[in-house]
Amino acid sequence: MSASEDFLSLTEEKEVVAAIGQAERNTSGEIRVHIEEHTEKPPLERAQEVFFQLEMEHTKQRNGVLFYIAALDHSFVILGDVGIDQVVPKDFWDKTKDLVLRHFKEGENKAGLITGILEAGEQLKLYFPYDAATDVDELSNEISRG
Ligand code: CA
Ligand code: CA
Repeated sequence: MSASEDFLSLTEEKEVVAAIGQAERNTSGEIRVHIEEHTEKPPLERAQEVFFQLEMEHTKQRNGVLFYIAALDHSFVILGDVGIDQVVPKDFWDKTKDLVLRHFKEGENKAGLITGILEAGEQLKLYFPYDAATDVDELSNEISRG
């Protein structure tokens, strides 16, 4: 089993993907999760790289959000696109990040991701409300593994 599957099994992955779908019914923001084993780069820099590799800037309102994990490094980054940065307070992701990390520390990786994703949906709702009539699933909900 790879470190990425050790972090989140393929069965657990389905529940996380479902949570992304649920969160995206609160907001037009688009959430993705990327899990890899290790990076030599600073986690934020690597998260930015993955963001563009996944073409996550291709949303109308530039409101994509990446949950980036390097499993062996115990690195975790939440990276929102520029459309989000322009309208939210600077510490916008801190609470969500803390929530996720508390679970990760207990080894509850699936619960951490689901909680964080749903929380992100709630947080984004205020700035980027969901519109059932016009919403498009702009970015896949599938988890990306490196
Ligand atoms: Ca959408
Ligand atoms: Ca999506």
